[in-house]
Formats: sequence, structure tokens, C-alpha cells
Amino acid sequence: MINGERSIERPLRWGMVGGGRTGQVGYKHRTGAQRDGTYRLICGAFDLDAERGRDFGTKIGVAADRCYGDYKELIAKEAGREDGVEVVSIATPNFTHYEITKACLEAGLHVICEKPLFFTVAECDEVARLAKEKGLIVGVTYGFTGHPLVHQMAAMVKKGMLGDIRIVDMQYTHGFNAGDDVGAGEALKWRTNPKTAGPTFVLGDIGTHLYYLSEVVLPQMKIEKLLCDRKAFIPTRAPLEDHATVLMHYDNGARGRLWVSSVNAGNMGSQRYRFVGSKASVEWSDSHPDQLIYEVQGEPNRTLHHGMPYLEEESLAYDRMGALHTEGLGDSWANIYLWIAKAIDAKRRGDEAFLKGHHYPGIEAGTEGVRWLENCVRSADAGSAWVEFE
Ligand code: NAD
Repeated sequence: MINGERSIERPLRWGMVGGGRTGQVGYKHRTGAQRDGTYRLICGAFDLDAERGRDFGTKIGVAADRCYGDYKELIAKEAGREDGVEVVSIATPNFTHYEITKACLEAGLHVICEKPLFFTVAECDEVARLAKEKGLIVGVTYGFTGHPLVHQMAAMVKKGMLGDIRIVDMQYTHGFNAGDDVGAGEALKWRTNPKTAGPTFVLGDIGTHLYYLSEVVLPQMKIEKLLCDRKAFIPTRAPLEDHATVLMHYDNGARGRLWVSSVNAGNMGSQRYRFVGSKASVEWSDSHPDQLIYEVQGEPNRTLHHGMPYLEEESLAYDRMGALHTEGLGDSWANIYLWIAKAIDAKRRGDEAFLKGHHYPGIEAGTEGVRWLENCVRSADAGSAWVEFE
């Protein structure tokens, strides 16, 4: 159980690029990072609008002279200080991730970047090489995988409690973009333009969360081939999709089905996962993250609750609130940030043995997400054809 006791030597000097006043995801980063005394927010280039960014920064407690106009100024000015920033989170639109990550790594800074990490696997590989060369960590904020019951599912699969995994069924849908884009805000504008979003809209925006979570639960299973069918129901979003279905064949013979959509009108279900084995199934949704449905063939269904002593140690270790009291997305993000802090701390201490056994979403996870997107696009562009997973 996590109780806020500091688990690294000293707090990391932390800065943010993006995630300003109007940003959708910035507060999730700050909620996650500032929970356990592992990060201290000392600087930022929070906004494309420098003035608004400075005003916002000072109102969340950052000194005015450390609220910078852009990331280049942040890197340059912080490099000149003895107490300069050590790790930077990037919460900006997709097209900026690669450029800002590279600049931070080149300046000797650890990075925590949003997903989808970059546009291409080639970019991911290049940045992975750079991070390795510099001895730096790149964390990726797959913010839903800090929920303790996600790790309960992984532990149950590992123990064989479900039997052989046969079916993977995942859905992340909402209806917020069911209407057209007339008068759309900034966040939707950049998401529906290939120049700023990359080669996908909903596949990268929400599908990568599904894919990464399935990798956490089923690390032993690899996709052999997939078929992706995507469509823009609002034609102005083409060639990007606001809806997609992906079928997957895994190397153990399992079959997968994934549905992402932002035009599922009226739907507030968000994410749903069902992993079906030869003996039993588990089902979890981020709308009810404290509950896990466990169904054994021929037995009454069970609902497992977070924090209860009957859960596996892998789940209990990440619990924060204790059974009976609600855990939520902020707790999940706090776990992600804590795991990344521990990775950065170990890197600083040169503790490679710790890093080998330590779970956190890093550059490999970010790369696999981008690889999955590349395969989805290749399949969709070939007329929704089956393609070997490359
Ligand atoms: P947004 O458009 O709502 O906000 C972007 C923020 O970045 C704004 O504050 C904007 O002013 C700022 N910004 C843009 N370019 C900048 C630059 N060059 N330098 C400094 N600041 C800049 O976008 P969002 O929805 O917050 O998404 C940002 C990123 O986070 C995207 O990559 C998105 O995919 C990802 N995201 C992840 C999650 C998650 O659960 N992990 C959730 C939402 C968004």
C-alpha cells in the first residue's frame, strides 16, 4: 500500500511544457506528480500563449521568472542554474512531442511524454538510442494503467487463474465528437489534422490506451496479424478516423477485438476490457475502477473490490486509499508518476539491476503504441486487409 512516504532520495526538480490553463491533460500530470513528494514543480513553458502561460504558472505556484515563453528558453535558462530542472513533462499536441523530447534529452533532461509518443517507429527508435546514450529515462503517461485492479488482472493471468487466454475484447468510446466540427475548440482542431495529430485520430488518441493496458495484462502475448477498419463519420476529419475497429490474431491463437470511437453518441462508458480464458474471464472498466468482475465457468460470478486482502500482492502494492474508499484516475496517475520517479532515481544512482525488474511505462511502451498504430494504418489503407504485424 502506498501512503505518501517519500521513496526516493530527494524530490526531482520538475518542469512542464504545455498543460496550461486551457489544456485538457495538464492537471492530471500535476495531480499525479505532486502526490508523493517525488517531484517539485519549479518551472514551465505551459502555454503557446506566453503571457497566459506565465499568468497560469504563477497561479499554480511557479516563480514568475521560471515561467518561460517556450521550451527552448526553458532549456537554455534552466541549464544555467545550479538548481535547474532535471525532468520535463510534455503535455502538448502530438506533433511537438518528438522535437521537444529530443531537445530535452540533448540537454541532459529526463522526459515524461504524452502518448501517442511520436508519429513513427523510426523516430521512437532514434530517441530510444539518444536516451540510452545520455543515460536518461523517457516515461510515457499511459495514465490508466496505474489502477491497482489492472495489476490484479495481470497477476491472475500470470497465475493461470483464467486458463489459456482465448479472447481479448476492448472498447474505448465516447460521443463527444458526434456532431460536426463547426466552431470546434483547439483540442479537436489539432486532433483532426494529420499535420498536428499524426497518422491517426481516435486510434492514437484513445486506442493506444487500450493497447498498452492489454500489454500490461498479457505481456506474454504478441500480435501476429491484424485488420483495421477506420472511417471518418464527419467527412472533414478524413483522412483521419473518428471511428475504428481492429481485429487481432495473437501468437498463442487468441483472437482480439478492439473498438474505438468518438462518435458513439450518448455513450459515457469510456473504457471496457474483457479477457477470456479457457477457465474464467475478467472484466474491468475505468468507469468503475474499484471493481473487477471475475467469472469462473460454472460458478456464480464474483465482484472483486480494490484493497481487499484476497487480492494478489501485485495489486495491493499499488493501492492508496484502502478497501471501501474510492480510488480514481488521480490515484492511477500518481502511481504512473511514482514508478517513473523511481526509474529516474535508479538511473541517477546507476542502479541498473533495479531498473531491470522495475515496471513503468517507458520508451519501449511508447514505441509499441506507435508500432501498433503504424500497423493499423497500413491495414486500413490497404482496404481493411489483414497485415502481418511488423
Ligand atoms: P490541449 O489542446 O487541450 O492542450 C495543449 C496545451 O499545450 C495547451 O495548454 C497549449 O497552450 C499548450 N501548447 C501547445 N503547444 C505548445 C508548445 N509548443 N509549447 C508549450 N505549450 C504548448 O491538448 P490535450 O488534450 O491536453 O493533449 C495534449 C497531449 O496529451 C496530447 O498528446 C494528447 O494525446 C495527450 N493526452 C493524453 C491523455 C492521457 O490520458 N494520457 C489525455 C488527454 C490528452
